[in-house]
Amino acid sequence: MSNCLSVTNAVEHAFCPRFTYFQLVLGIEQREGKRGTVQSGRAFHSRHSTTNKTYKIKRLDGIKQTELLLYSKKYSFSGKIDEAIEGEDQMLIIERKYSDYIIVGLTLKTQLGLLAILAEENIGKKVNQAIVVFDKKGRVEVQVNITEKIKQNALLMLQKTSHIIETGRMPYSKHDNRCLNCCYRKICP
Ligand code: SF4
Repeated sequence: MSNCLSVTNAVEHAFCPRFTYFQLVLGIEQREGKRGTVQSGRAFHSRHSTTNKTYKIKRLDGIKQTELLLYSKKYSFSGKIDEAIEGEDQMLIIERKYSDYIIVGLTLKTQLGLLAILAEENIGKKVNQAIVVFDKKGRVEVQVNITEKIKQNALLMLQKTSHIIETGRMPYSKHDNRCLNCCYRKICP
């Protein structure tokens, strides 16, 4: 389906399809590491997935898994599950967001759908649910049911990402609030 894209590529496409064009067609890297929110988010992720290996969200009995780098032979894409609980016959994905903006939108559904596909193909256990922990000033846990529709839509996003690379054409995207902090705003027509 794709030229070995990553989950991140599809998530960024869901955020704005022009990210795919600037980054993967023109080869212009994002300067996201310089943005404070991204750096804080990374520190938050790493605290839970590497130094806090025994802490578990009590939603499923099982073994805590961290930093699982996985590849889908079936759909040719890769991705990393930062944290999950592996039960006897199912897996629960845990995704942490350094944000107080509690919304399960297209980007998050794309991410969770593709991570679920990776886990099911590689580990052979069903992923029915994910827990998203929004944690900045306050802490909120949101349960997301990983439906077939979420997984199919996530694969479709991967396919759309691949299509932009194949055609090399700049996709349409409307300008809105996303553009305010976008690293491509100075070159985006
Ligand atoms: S400036 Fe707006 S439309 Fe252009 S790439 Fe960034 S988010 Fe997308």
